[in-house]
Amino acid sequence: MIAMKFGGSSVGSGERMVNVAKIIQSYISKKPVVVISALQGVTDTLLSLSDDFLHRRKEEGQKKLNQVGEKHFEIIREYIKDTKRASEIRKKIEELMTQLEEVAHGVYLLREFSPKSLALVSSFGERLSVPLLSGILQEMGTPAKDFDARQLVSTDDEFLSAGVDMKTTCSQFKKYVFPVWKKGVVPVITGFIGSCREGLTTTLGRGGSDYSGAIVGACFDAEEIWIWTDVSGIYSADPRIVPNAKGLSSVSYEEASEMSYFGAKVIHPKTMMPAVMKKIPIRIKNTFAPKDSGTLISKKTMTKGHPVQIVTAIKKLDLVSVQGSGMIGVPSISARIFSTVDRAKVHLFMYSQASSGYNMCLVTGNQESHRLKEMLECEFSHELKIGALDQIGILSSMSIVSVIGSGMRGTPGIAGAIFAALGDHSLNIMAIAQGSSQLNISMVIDESDADRAVKILHDAVILKHFENKVGS
Ligand code: ADP
Ligand code: ASP
Ligand code: MG
Repeated sequence: MIAMKFGGSSVGSGERMVNVAKIIQSYISKKPVVVISALQGVTDTLLSLSDDFLHRRKEEGQKKLNQVGEKHFEIIREYIKDTKRASEIRKKIEELMTQLEEVAHGVYLLREFSPKSLALVSSFGERLSVPLLSGILQEMGTPAKDFDARQLVSTDDEFLSAGVDMKTTCSQFKKYVFPVWKKGVVPVITGFIGSCREGLTTTLGRGGSDYSGAIVGACFDAEEIWIWTDVSGIYSADPRIVPNAKGLSSVSYEEASEMSYFGAKVIHPKTMMPAVMKKIPIRIKNTFAPKDSGTLISKKTMTKGHPVQIVTAIKKLDLVSVQGSGMIGVPSISARIFSTVDRAKVHLFMYSQASSGYNMCLVTGNQESHRLKEMLECEFSHELKIGALDQIGILSSMSIVSVIGSGMRGTPGIAGAIFAALGDHSLNIMAIAQGSSQLNISMVIDESDADRAVKILHDAVILKHFENKVGS
């Protein structure tokens, strides 16, 4: 059996859904179980319309709400010709739109948009898309049934990035989905969402449908997990930034986790967890070029001759710096900094400390940096008062650019090539970190330089190796 996940770009319109349905039909002998995302752009629109309702822009919000409904109704009108089927699906979409409208008005009335409400609002994208694909499959003669993953994926109550209880989840899949699938019906399941013990809606984080695909694969002990998207696999850099990036035929789970964590949006970082647990390979494939072999993510890598696999960038970051002569050699300062980070519930993408101990840089999302700064100021109020610490600073609009590949281990000269290339182009590096696994060298640079840095590093540490190999 194959678990197949199709992303928003693959199901962006009725025509694309028909294309997806054809791909599913072509692999019907592999007994697929399908997971899909919301239609392209719908999750963003749901968040933006909620923001309109929250900030009293009711008319604008209502307009976007109607557009979301219309996008789905139009697909029914154009692609579901069987009148009984069309009316059943229309009824489902109407019910969901009524519920969505009620939630949006709740946001308006209460002037509240907590993580709990945010998770509920964003869940509508996948709940609206799934009946359409299952309807189109049926229309094309393939038995299919839509499932709402909130009845299947059991999570904790971290509403916007929920942790999954795999044991309960797998037993729910066995109970509800397995019997349907066994009869030869294709299950079409909402990606991205689950529910916590209290029955409230949770999400697995933005881009989390990939993770849902892997969860389904693990519960079914799939042969492979296929992530269908709009590019033919993982490239040596985001092809939108580096058009001559190379496709990677295979990467290890470890490399894929590192790449996605450091910004390769093509796969969600948590996707690898269920796959590693059950030793299931993941394949990234292109819905617009289904014959391309894509990238295989498994225990193996293709590092031979390619010490660096990929250059990535994460944007919208800030760098919070703590420094002062009073820090030197005082061990408890680091402990206090990290416990403050923990209390502030801030995600640290990277940190680095000067070996003198005089300076510590903490890199966080730009939405979180001011909260961290305030809490650090509170924690170190005494040291700031007596001048042992300087003011806690924030450098905003930063980016982390990373060079990743397991072949970097034991290959000398990579760091030298990186810094020489950036230096030659006068790009300023604010902080550097290298994991002890030597899988990754990351640098903090100004966000406005990020794309240029990715291109420069791609030329210097990836293309050079490809050229050397071809030339040798
Ligand atoms: P989906 O809607 O299928 O989930 P995403 O937009 O989440 O698709 O991911 C696919 C996109 O990821 C590609 O269009 C590409 O621009 C981007 N991307 C970023 N880095 C990489 C990379 N290294 N290789 C391939 N794609 C990448
Ligand atoms: N629809 C969700 C999002 O846009 C999940 C996904 O596409 O993977 O984040
Ligand atoms: Mg995605």
